[in-house]
Amino acid sequence: MFILLFFLGSCIASFLNLCAYRIPKNISILFPGSSCERCNAKIEKLYIMPVIGYIISFGKCKKCGSKIPIAYPISEFLFGMMVIAVYAKSGLNFNLIFLHNLLLLSFLYLISVIDLITMEVYTNVIIVFFLMLLITSCLQLCFDEIFISDIYVSLISSFFFFAVFYIFAKLKWFGYGDSFVIFVMVTFLNFNQGILSIILSFIIGGVVGIFVILSKKFSLNKMPFCPFLCIGGIISILFSENIISFYLSKI
Ligand SMILES: [Zn+2]
Repeated sequence: MFILLFFLGSCIASFLNLCAYRIPKNISILFPGSSCERCNAKIEKLYIMPVIGYIISFGKCKKCGSKIPIAYPISEFLFGMMVIAVYAKSGLNFNLIFLHNLLLLSFLYLISVIDLITMEVYTNVIIVFFLMLLITSCLQLCFDEIFISDIYVSLISSFFFFAVFYIFAKLKWFGYGDSFVIFVMVTFLNFNQGILSIILSFIIGGVVGIFVILSKKFSLNKMPFCPFLCIGGIISILFSENIISFYLSKI
């Protein structure tokens, strides 16, 4: 079962990587199939398999020999592991919580990769995932897996954070896109996870920011914030209870 989940996760990551590459270039995400970024040769079925394809092709395009970035198999591997963790988190069940968290994970991953490549947040990606997450939330509500009060609480906190980050964006501390990503993330996480995800992304972003300032190689203005939101969000989805109970036991 875990192998199947890992395979599912790495396939999703492979597709999201393709989306991240194509969406900013306005290329269809469905057709044509995967091709080499340099020579455009179609990748054969055998080599298209995530992680394994990279290993058996020795990390090179079969046609032109150009190197395939190592980021591809690494991200596919990590995403595969995260899908296993999300499955464990949903009580080892293919239930709505699993689907909901998988969508949230995919959203945060895709928006972060695009942000890293282009320094931009794409509204159409936000809208598509918002609608899909809205459906899984409504279904969870129908099947009593969450309650309407949970949704109210999440909505209040997401509007609050959206407003705060919108003001930050006006002050040019963050991009406007970040406030929309935060809105979607906090709306579809529960209250504790939402707060924790913001705190974590600030802590992680802050630590990296200090290194960026010290290294003097990069400018802070050129540091995308979505990847930190993504890391904060994923840690919150997987470990919010552990972190909060650990914190409470220490005070
Ligand atoms: Zn090639």
